Amino acid sequence: MTRLRTSSRRQMCGNSITTSTTILISCYLRSRTWPGRRAHQLATQSFVRAAMGAGSGRTEAIMREIASLREQRDELDSRIRFFESQLRIGGGGAAPTTLPPSLSTKLDAMGAHAVSAAGGGLSPDMVRRYSRQLLLPDFGVHGQRRLSRSSVLVVGAGALGSAVALYLAASGVGSLGIADGENVELSNLHGQIMHMETYVGQPKVKSAAAACRAINSSVKVFDHHLKLKAKNALNVVRQYDIVVDATNNLASRYMLSDCCVLLHKPLISGSTIGLEGQLAVCNHNGSPCYRCLFPNPAACQNSSDDGILGVVPGVIGCLQALEVIKVASRVGEPLCGRMLNFDALSSRFKIVNKIRQRSSSCTVCGDHPDLTKDTFMMFGYDSFSQSSNSSKPPAQSLNPLPRNARITCREYKRLLDSGRPHLLLDVRPVHHFQIASIANSVNIPLNELKEKLPRLRDALSEVADVSHGRHRPLYFICQRGDDSQVAVHILRENGFPCASDVIGGLESWAREADPGFPVYW
Ligand SMILES: [Zn+2]
Repeated sequence: MTRLRTSSRRQMCGNSITTSTTILISCYLRSRTWPGRRAHQLATQSFVRAAMGAGSGRTEAIMREIASLREQRDELDSRIRFFESQLRIGGGGAAPTTLPPSLSTKLDAMGAHAVSAAGGGLSPDMVRRYSRQLLLPDFGVHGQRRLSRSSVLVVGAGALGSAVALYLAASGVGSLGIADGENVELSNLHGQIMHMETYVGQPKVKSAAAACRAINSSVKVFDHHLKLKAKNALNVVRQYDIVVDATNNLASRYMLSDCCVLLHKPLISGSTIGLEGQLAVCNHNGSPCYRCLFPNPAACQNSSDDGILGVVPGVIGCLQALEVIKVASRVGEPLCGRMLNFDALSSRFKIVNKIRQRSSSCTVCGDHPDLTKDTFMMFGYDSFSQSSNSSKPPAQSLNPLPRNARITCREYKRLLDSGRPHLLLDVRPVHHFQIASIANSVNIPLNELKEKLPRLRDALSEVADVSHGRHRPLYFICQRGDDSQVAVHILRENGFPCASDVIGGLESWAREADPGFPVYW
């Protein structure tokens, strides 16, 4: 019987515990006493003797069998509690414990958990590296261990992604994936702080991976040099536990949220526009998905090319990293069902508690969702959000003017070089004009043009007199060639038939006519 029980124990233990430990537990269980159980056994024996007659060999055999079965049952119960306590302290693959199982269970119940190795399962290097985090009572070894076992995908290696990725690498996340399809540009470096000048022209993910490995070589870093879209997102996202939306792009925000719902992944969603930022944890602990929060994409603010102060996405990115750490380590209260708004100008943080909650009619996370993995891959997120999936502005094709009312950059360059009198009006905002402009151009922002028409009429008549009608005396230019066309329309509607616009604006000018022109867009 003893041999059979030992064999049975070995089978049940499998590879998770050594044979010597099994024998140790077994010896302990056989030697221990349990007053309550013993009293119950004696009562049962008395009952059976009374019922079947004392001294009967059959009765004694039954009683022995019952006692044996109970002993096996109690032993199994004890071992279940022991292994459950090992799970609670994260003891998978841990060294054999020196504590008897019953004592281990009792200590667990007291909250005095035993650990199976020095450093609580963390290596000496990890203890040294993360000591300042380990000293935090609310985080401690358990938080660090969970964080070190988690995998996080950061989508976007820009300004948001820089703060997120660096802090996650430094704090010791287990695996860190970074997805981005763009290259590092000089204009990135003011805010995208994980990229160095030496990486200009190279993929951002290469630069980002190098920066993360440099700060913590023990973190597994995976770079995905691709633009994450619906058709490839499922394969990438499913490899990770937690997803960070650091794209700052509306179409990508909806796409990533849908992808995370389909794959049951928490999404840490952050965004900035101008000097403001926003943060929420979606699809986690019952929190709404991004579609629940913003059912109408038109009501969302998309990123723009109106400029950004690098530290603003830096602030939001740091907060995204914090939410990842909280979700991964199961410490604290993640920003679920709430939203954080940040106003950099007034230095105000505001937590909005009354936001839309998860909707049962949501087409993605609702009770009867329409979106499947197949339809997700075919979904047109660009058209849905009315924005491009790229952070760069889409090319415009506005062309309301006849060709004879337009002039190419090269044609205007020849006019400029000829010295023929004319007036070039730049209709960009003042702060754009102050960054860079063509020599001798005059700045009248488009929104001020109508009110300044009377004064413009005087100036124009003077130029027209000088030019003697040999060419059009008035030209408009803007950044891309759209606002300048609107300006010509305004002039024509107000009795100025002689205005032309410079096709493609300053972007074309810098590309085709003056390569030395300062490019700020
Ligand atoms: Zn939803």
